[in-house]
Amino acid sequence: MIYDEYINFTITKQKHIALIAHDSKKDEMIDWIKENKEILQGHFLSGTGTTARIITEKTELPVKGYNSGPLGGDQQIGARIVEGKIDFVVFFWDPLESQPHDPDVKALLRIAVVYDIPIANNRATADFLINSRYMNEEYERKVINYNAIMHKRVEKLI
Ligand code: PGA
Repeated sequence: MIYDEYINFTITKQKHIALIAHDSKKDEMIDWIKENKEILQGHFLSGTGTTARIITEKTELPVKGYNSGPLGGDQQIGARIVEGKIDFVVFFWDPLESQPHDPDVKALLRIAVVYDIPIANNRATADFLINSRYMNEEYERKVINYNAIMHKRVEKLI
């Protein structure tokens, strides 16, 4: 059987955006969100528990809250990416502090790359993303067709 190497998934015009900020980056996140509130209010927002709560309190934007990061919130967001329910991430992580949930942070960054998800890890990247023409269009992200790899592995192993 011939498989395509990649599968296309559509990031719709109205995006499902996950917002995460480590504690030392929360002020910066709020500032960035206030600056881009007009654009962001046209999309579906979610975030890790504390980040989501603070954004809603300070900007009045509705943000669906997952668990707090150290309690598995990053993993929940990773799982939503796998399920195709989140297709855009702004994650201001702290490069100067180690976190109790560092493995979860790494896992989320990895899964975003696997699923070809736009992910901004600092303000400049977030600015470039939010001002991209793709914010107002659909975009076809390309995900490696793991079925093809699995098929080859199964053939080798049986
Ligand atoms: P928090 O989690 O929004 O609950 O603070 C963020 C994180 O540490 O990933």
